Amino acid sequence: MTPAATATATTTDDLSYEGWANKTSALEIPTGMLIGGESTAASSGDEAPLISPRDGAELGRLPLATEADINRAVIAAKLSFKTWSRYSPRERGLVLLRWADLIEANRQELALLVALEMGKPVSTAYEIELRTTIALFRWYGEASDKLMDESPRGHHNSVALITREPVGVVVAIAPWNFPLTMAALKVAPALLAGNAVILKPASQSPLSALRLAELGLQAGLPPAALQVVTGSGATTGAALAMHHDVATLAFTGSTEVGLQLLRYSSESNGKPVYLELGGKSPHIIFDDAQDLDKAIDMAAWAIAFNSGQMCTAGSRLLVQKSILNEVVAGVVEKLKAWVPGDPLDPATKLGPLSSERHRREVLKEIAAGATSGATLITDPDPVPDRIGSYLQPSVFVDVDPDSRLAQHEIFGPVLAVTAFTDDEEAIAIANNSSFGLAAGVWTSNLNRAHRMSRQLAVGNVWINCYEEGDLTTPFGGRKLSGYGSDKGLHGLEKFTTLKTTWIEL
Ligand code: NAP
Ligand code: MG
Repeated sequence: MTPAATATATTTDDLSYEGWANKTSALEIPTGMLIGGESTAASSGDEAPLISPRDGAELGRLPLATEADINRAVIAAKLSFKTWSRYSPRERGLVLLRWADLIEANRQELALLVALEMGKPVSTAYEIELRTTIALFRWYGEASDKLMDESPRGHHNSVALITREPVGVVVAIAPWNFPLTMAALKVAPALLAGNAVILKPASQSPLSALRLAELGLQAGLPPAALQVVTGSGATTGAALAMHHDVATLAFTGSTEVGLQLLRYSSESNGKPVYLELGGKSPHIIFDDAQDLDKAIDMAAWAIAFNSGQMCTAGSRLLVQKSILNEVVAGVVEKLKAWVPGDPLDPATKLGPLSSERHRREVLKEIAAGATSGATLITDPDPVPDRIGSYLQPSVFVDVDPDSRLAQHEIFGPVLAVTAFTDDEEAIAIANNSSFGLAAGVWTSNLNRAHRMSRQLAVGNVWINCYEEGDLTTPFGGRKLSGYGSDKGLHGLEKFTTLKTTWIEL
């Protein structure tokens, strides 16, 4: 799409409350999975209702894929791999670029599906999730003809080639918190590398994934290069993970399920499993932070954005003792701007949690935290009778670094604040975690910034910012936050396998 066409596509979107309401009444809800390029019911006929956390309404019903459906999808994927892997990288890249244009042209509809299925404020979905998703397809599309293989120099009587080949059938299992971005992080590089992909979206968020895949077919993907199967993790997800003809499994989700996938692999064909898992990220504020107001604002943002349903949520706020009271008061004040509201209201910053069940689990953690010795300084549930899964952010102070509040990933807007005295104590508390995904540090001391970054046992460090990065920088975890990287050229590695060819001349 040309820049002019891009401008047309976005300016026809009416982003007012009325615009979103009109779009909602005209919305077509997908009803089938996408197997072999066709919208398909489950072979058993079984389906499950999809409930919106916005108002508890049933959005639609989605098939529960059986083992027979999974077998059919894998056979179709193997066939499609033969075709797709023989496209030139440039041809595959052009499909991704056309797909990005189609996502952009359907940006409002996709944002709406995300908002309805998992409750993200529609303006956040439109501005942030869709921007990132479009950029991802463009970035990998443009990378297509810039990838090189290797050949070592200096052999007189031989030639050695080090080449990368696609692996075959890739299964991507995605969570619901950023349903499009998390899927695209696997799907775009896996397809660019020439694999056939089967995507299993989270049960809470299949609609946007199905629409995304339809647009991929429109962009020119062969029918089964990307398929989407819906159903529960325990049956559909497990059947995919156990399948002997699946070459690689790429997962984003909870640590518990990630470990289960490793077991499935060991009980089937030993397929490599790449894991982007949970986190309990330390957000560390030193008293020499140059812009303390910005640090406070970001500390509130890092626990409230997406209702705290972020693998990278800054859920452990570590504050130097000398500024503790000022920071805590500031964060509580900033959080007052995060008022739960209708995700379809473009002014809403904080939508509901993703489901009523998840909201009850978060409330249970808050109740348990309140009896753990920490002090809850906010009202946990000011709107208990409201329909929909709404919850305002909670702040605990005096949190013991060994307690459940500081160790367990709640995946909701619950902040645990702990004070520290010096660098050494900050590092000790920060690294006292089974997770190792991300950390934030606020300081104006350059030496301290570098020392902290080196000592933090995490995959991503943000100094004087939080959650920054672009598509060039890899993203991944350590410890129980997983391994393998998404984004950038490193994000392609897991979807290819190295081959050495030695030729005597
Ligand atoms: P989840 O419960 O682990 O589910 C993730 C996906 O796995 C869903 O599609 C789920 O299907 C499926 N699944 C569940 N049990 C399975 C099984 N036994 N076999 C195969 N698949 C199975 O995670 P979530 O609740 O959707 O998302 C929240 C978690 O994701 C948090 O822990 C968060 O930290 C993590 N996350 C990590 C990153 C990262 O990049 N590191 C990014 C975002 C989120 P069902 O929906 O049908 O259960
Ligand atoms: Mg879950």
